[in-house]
Amino acid sequence: MAFLEINDMSLEFGGVKACQNVNMKLEPGILYGLIGPNGAGKSTIFNVLTGIYPPTRGDVKLGGESLVGHKPYEIAQRGVGRTFQNIRLFKELTVLQNVMVAFYSSSHSTIADMVFESKNFHNEESEVKTKALELLKVMGIEDLAEVPAGGLPYGKQRKLEIARALGLNPKILLLDEPAAGLNPTETKELTDLIRKIQKDRNITVLLIEHDMGLVMKICEKIFVLVQGQLVCEGTADIIQNDKRVIEAYLGVD
Ligand code: ADP
Ligand code: MG
Repeated sequence: MAFLEINDMSLEFGGVKACQNVNMKLEPGILYGLIGPNGAGKSTIFNVLTGIYPPTRGDVKLGGESLVGHKPYEIAQRGVGRTFQNIRLFKELTVLQNVMVAFYSSSHSTIADMVFESKNFHNEESEVKTKALELLKVMGIEDLAEVPAGGLPYGKQRKLEIARALGLNPKILLLDEPAAGLNPTETKELTDLIRKIQKDRNITVLLIEHDMGLVMKICEKIFVLVQGQLVCEGTADIIQNDKRVIEAYLGVD
């Protein structure tokens, strides 16, 4: 049994076969890449894993237990953290508050505690604040803690999304094109950060990314998806020399 398993998973939207019979096995503590042309079904795999869409067929399992049928927040609590291809932050909240929100999904305070601002809630709030600030520090954006998230430059918003995902203390982190829209310096910085986070926390990371240099550099194993189907998996070396992968990216000739 693998840590995370996708078993013969298919998902159709109307007539569109977004994923077809996808099988993936992920082991703990490894940095994986998921690549493929636009529309290949990469984000759809994340959406199935995080409970946004139920698969039309097949199953996904974490630690041997099926995730299908569970709500996104339940799956997050079980240890699946993610970021989105289109950044989804609470733009009016501060940078710090955006990360604090993640902690409350696993909070012990009740709604009544919050309404009556009990001692319990205050104790927990200062603890949460400290932890959230630590995550901002990991991502190098702690100096922006009090700024509204919507006002951050793009690259910093991407970092904040990762900080927020880490607030759930995930066992596996799904990153959907974290370097999209970043310049080469920012990309390099983010690449180093992703690798550091993965090592320090010894978590599993599955990274969707178009930047081949980035993927080949940091991923131990790469899955290649073309038109909803996995066509190849392996190390950067194997992927770069695979005929089907070259065809998918460069055309048959
Ligand atoms: P990728 O992330 O690899 O670029 P996606 O997973 O976003 O690809 O999309 C795969 C296919 O599924 C595309 O043809 C896309 O148009 C379709 N698709 C994705 N989400 C939906 C949806 N909610 N409704 C209808 N079609 C969708
Ligand atoms: Mg996508």
